[in-house]
Amino acid sequence: MSDPVFFADIDENIKRIRFNIEEAKVKYGRENDEITAMAVTKTVTPQRINFAAMQGFTLLGENRVQEFLQKKEFYVKNAEIQFIGHLQSNKIKYIIDSVTMIQSVDSVSLAKEISKLAVKHGKTMDILCEVNIGGEESKSGFSPDALNESLCEISQLDGVRICGLMTIPPPVCGNVCFERMQRIFEDIRSDKICGDEFRVLSMGMSADYADAIGFGSTMVRIGSALFGARNYGTSI
Ligand SMILES: *Cc1c(COP(=O)(O)O)cnc(C)c1O
Repeated sequence: MSDPVFFADIDENIKRIRFNIEEAKVKYGRENDEITAMAVTKTVTPQRINFAAMQGFTLLGENRVQEFLQKKEFYVKNAEIQFIGHLQSNKIKYIIDSVTMIQSVDSVSLAKEISKLAVKHGKTMDILCEVNIGGEESKSGFSPDALNESLCEISQLDGVRICGLMTIPPPVCGNVCFERMQRIFEDIRSDKICGDEFRVLSMGMSADYADAIGFGSTMVRIGSALFGARNYGTSI
């Protein structure tokens, strides 16, 4: 890895994102809440990712196992990695020891596979359950109707800890989906279905993270607003 480079575009984007988050916190009366901003790294070079990490965006969100495996050795040591992409069960083994959370658990069977492998590795994996809040056929995730039952089943498994919910609503759904998610998240929390660890609502991306903060999001996942438009040709 070559020496650190200053990326003026990312530097400016970080300032804007921090400002927007602070502004949203004030606007929505959430000044005392901690909102985590994750850097979503797909297609971005390790050098640019490391610059963001050195400016404080140390939490990285990875979508693709293959791309992550190619890039991870170049990451700065203080980076923390969470997986946010669709995960096939035969690939869990490649990430289980290098991520601190899997946000994209979209079925009970995937949770069971993670559980098995985590137990084998002598660890407990933090997970979020992905909710298909827009009911889109093309998207993975639990339907809101099936969620409580699935959470109960998953919460019985060894080696996994359900820390909250993640969602990628369709853009057209906007605040309607955010509000639905907030209600689902709060209901689960007050029913104590998943215990005290259930506290993460991962919701909001580049186009709508400020809005998501208005609906209780505790983690926003930001890609293009941080790194610029994605270029699928140059991931390394
Ligand atoms: C790509 C991606 C993001 C970030 O998208 P942007 O609109 O570029 O901020 C967030 N979450 C997931 C799961 C993603 O795949």
